[in-house]
Amino acid sequence: MQINVTKTFLPPIAEYERYLQDIWSRGWITNHGPLVNELELQLKERLGLDYLLFVSSGTTALQIALRALDLEGDVITTPFSYVATTASIIWHGCEPVMVDIAPDTLNIDAQKIEAAITERTSAILATHVYGNSCDIAAIQAVAERHGLPVIYDAAHAFGSRYRGRTVFAYGDISATSFHATKLFHTIEGGGVIARTPELLRRLALVRNFGHTSPTDFECVGINGKNSEFHAAMGLCNLNYVDKILQVRADLSAHYDQKLKGLPLRRPSITPGCDYNHAYCPVIFESEEALLRVVETLTFHNIFPRRYFYPSLSRLRYLNREFRTPVCDDIAPRVLCLPIYHSLSLEEIDMICRLISRSLRY
Ligand SMILES: *Cc1c(COP(=O)(O)O)cnc(C)c1O
Repeated sequence: MQINVTKTFLPPIAEYERYLQDIWSRGWITNHGPLVNELELQLKERLGLDYLLFVSSGTTALQIALRALDLEGDVITTPFSYVATTASIIWHGCEPVMVDIAPDTLNIDAQKIEAAITERTSAILATHVYGNSCDIAAIQAVAERHGLPVIYDAAHAFGSRYRGRTVFAYGDISATSFHATKLFHTIEGGGVIARTPELLRRLALVRNFGHTSPTDFECVGINGKNSEFHAAMGLCNLNYVDKILQVRADLSAHYDQKLKGLPLRRPSITPGCDYNHAYCPVIFESEEALLRVVETLTFHNIFPRRYFYPSLSRLRYLNREFRTPVCDDIAPRVLCLPIYHSLSLEEIDMICRLISRSLRY
């Protein structure tokens, strides 16, 4: 028996098979099919959003967002995220400018953004790390002062809310991932959410090669479409997502209770955020303590993950050096413990016992 940091939720196979029958009878398997349309509708309804598109991955979502805004020059971003955040900026031909993170939430430190803005800055791309929202109000205020668009990497944020609305509702564009490792998934997949109908139109164009008609192309585009098979998985999983969110909250509370008193801390939740418990991060007092815990857990076939290590400001393909002392200090000490729908309380007890034991030496 092996316990990984996450385990993909799968719906009852009969529910997926029903969609397969429909797909076969229509013979329509990709290119804006009826199930893709239905998934987009259900997501918008459920999340209270007007402008959302289903795309092929979270990474494509980021790339499409950057292209739709026609960004040039520098993009202010965070060193504490998955590599796709930084790589998509560079892929688009912009330069990432790393602003350090807040030590409590591990999100970009909104108070430090303004000092990093220059005449080359064209946007802010921040990640809602682990699904905990950024200080959205502060980021919006600084973006408005400087006339900069905001893109959120909301790959972790399905089910999280900020000031009563889905986290996806904030920023000019939110890009999210529906990858199999995420809380809500479509096997592979992602979503882009726009604030305005004009931006939605741009995103839709870029998703489909820039086609405005079979023979006309308005802008550089990409194949960011997703298939009926992926949409079908999403439609099945949507019926379980409330339950998934509830179970995660319970598991996370159990972790909190069992980890109490140990020499470690949990990142804090941003004021105004109703958290989805997508991950279970803990911050140890030293990297040495973390490595001892990893060794003990691994020995017992339990595989936590070092999300996110190393700091993205250390990526070898960056052209500039950035001072991100908070991220440099915390990234080596943070570990994501296993959390997923079928994880049991007894398994959490065992994980916490092992952590406690390895921290005592
Ligand atoms: C998963 C993830 C992505 C990429 O999403 P994919 O669907 O795997 O392409 C981007 N950013 C963050 C923060 C992620 O965790």
